Amino acid sequence: MKKLTVLSGGMGGARFLQGLLHGIRAGILPGVADDAEVTVVANTGDDWWVHGLKVCPDLDTVMYTLGDGIDLERGWGRREETWSAKAELEAYGVEPTWFGLGDRDIATHLVRTQLVEAGYPLSAVTQALCRRWLSPTYGEALRLLPMTDDRVETHVAIADPEAPSGQRVVHFQEYWVRLHARVPAEAVVFVGLEQASPAPGVLDAIADADLVVLPPSNPVVSVGTILGVPGVRDAVRTTTAKVVGLSPIVGGTHVRGMAAQMLTSVGVEVSAAAVGLHYGSRTRGGVLDGWLVDERDADQVGRLEDGGLRAAAAPLMMTDHDTTAAMAAAAIALVGEDA
Ligand code: GDP
Ligand code: CA
Repeated sequence: MKKLTVLSGGMGGARFLQGLLHGIRAGILPGVADDAEVTVVANTGDDWWVHGLKVCPDLDTVMYTLGDGIDLERGWGRREETWSAKAELEAYGVEPTWFGLGDRDIATHLVRTQLVEAGYPLSAVTQALCRRWLSPTYGEALRLLPMTDDRVETHVAIADPEAPSGQRVVHFQEYWVRLHARVPAEAVVFVGLEQASPAPGVLDAIADADLVVLPPSNPVVSVGTILGVPGVRDAVRTTTAKVVGLSPIVGGTHVRGMAAQMLTSVGVEVSAAAVGLHYGSRTRGGVLDGWLVDERDADQVGRLEDGGLRAAAAPLMMTDHDTTAAMAAAAIALVGEDA
């Protein structure tokens, strides 16, 4: 296999990609060439405008993580960050004060915003930013594409007894960063998604791939959003590549983040099997050939197989690059020719 395409959210996707790229270079992924090319199609539903800046959290998490600029502990934003601009904005009493924009990170958003305002599509702007972060290490072997150049925003409906409808809708960032996903999400709304078009290269990257991977990203607000861009789900359904996914739900809940809240809001049981079946088998109109679950969820393999999927259990905690590369190897083996 020479061409791999990964549909990624932020932290879960980025960590998986680190392990995948490590595995490719080490030549330990079954059937994958050590000069294989990886295309990342990233969720942009988390994007928003704040303090006049266009911020793309998932694109940046992937870019900073793979470019070795990420703050590892936080999992987002720049390493060795300082927060002077944030403190100054607070001193002016400018809202939102709950959204952390670090000084170094702001430089990225300034560059992006200027280019977007000058009329460049997000895909071209992302390519320009990646020239700093990804090209020196990966050259042409790694491409980062936004799922769309169009404006798409994920919003979350929460209960608000004071609102006439009993509900209030907040931007995904407000739900996650200000409310810490602690109030129940009653619905998820993808504003602009139905009118969006895939960014240049997205559909080809799926159609021409030798393997498509759904990493352990949030199935609703990361991968779900990408699949919701018109044309993307069909491209995954019909590609000649095998499609394999890894569960972000381990032992009945998410590892980090808020996949549990999001799954509940769309009526999907919070289990590794239910997420696999939610994506569904390509033999039954879904998007997957295989679904890898954590060893703690090994008892769910039969349920997945009954749903028409190849399924297996393996350790799925991304503790270091070797372990994550082994996850990738197990996922690839699951849908490999001789599996
Ligand atoms: P976000 O955009 O930053 O929320 O990141 P993603 O959508 O790419 O990934 C979030 C998902 O990654 C969450 O649902 C987590 O459960 C999952 N995740 C994070 N770390 C791990 C891990 O070590 N193993 C597994 N299996 N899932 C993980
Ligand atoms: Ca995200």
